Amino acid sequence: MIDPRPSGRTNSGGIVVTIDGPAGSGKTSTARKLAEILQYRHLDSGALYRLRESVPFDGWRGLTVSDLDKLDLQIVARDDRITMFWKQTEISSELRTVEVTERVSHVASLPQVRKWLLGTQKKLGANGRLIADGRDMGETVFPDAEVKIFLTASLEIRAKRRLLESSGDGFLNEMLRDEMERIRERDLADEDRQHSPLVQVADAIEVNTTELTFDGQVEILLEIVRDLTGTR
Ligand code: C5P
Repeated sequence: MIDPRPSGRTNSGGIVVTIDGPAGSGKTSTARKLAEILQYRHLDSGALYRLRESVPFDGWRGLTVSDLDKLDLQIVARDDRITMFWKQTEISSELRTVEVTERVSHVASLPQVRKWLLGTQKKLGANGRLIADGRDMGETVFPDAEVKIFLTASLEIRAKRRLLESSGDGFLNEMLRDEMERIRERDLADEDRQHSPLVQVADAIEVNTTELTFDGQVEILLEIVRDLTGTR
């Protein structure tokens, strides 16, 4: 399932940085930018759970790890990029559709799905130089990560940022209410599930981005990484 070729960069001094947090807190965009600046790889672990249609929605529950191994999913790590292929086709934009988002927490709550993806994620961090974002990066996947961040923001601001991204600034109050409800439901599903729920681990540094600009939050995370690793 995985082809983690060496990044071509030296791994000396390369560390793992985890960024966990609730939906819409800016984890993925911040992690991507940080990886670009530090010249690390970025693992968007949420993308792994945003699997596509081939398995009917109700069918996931009945699959075993060995059934899942037979699915034609490939995760390829080459140079600075981690790319997913489903049936030989690269998956990207369709991962974030409303349909996929609505069912993702169910797929992610299944223990066999988590077990199936765990080894792959660990391998991606084996040589360091990785920024990994998700829900259980600091606790389950990379418990020994050198830097752990927990990114938060108020529910309203998270919903506003999501709407700005998808519809620009012309959204109505009703749309904002609906988006807040969708995010709240997803947070609850992620926090209440039995396997690898969303939690803030004791050794994570919390960064609340409610009042921050995107550049501001990237700068704060960069400072944290530099302080904790003694690099400038
Ligand atoms: O980060 P993103 O919003 O793409 O994550 C989609 C969903 O995938 C989350 O709501 C959560 O249910 C699941 N997820 C997870 N563990 C991760 C990353 C994502 O359970 N490490």
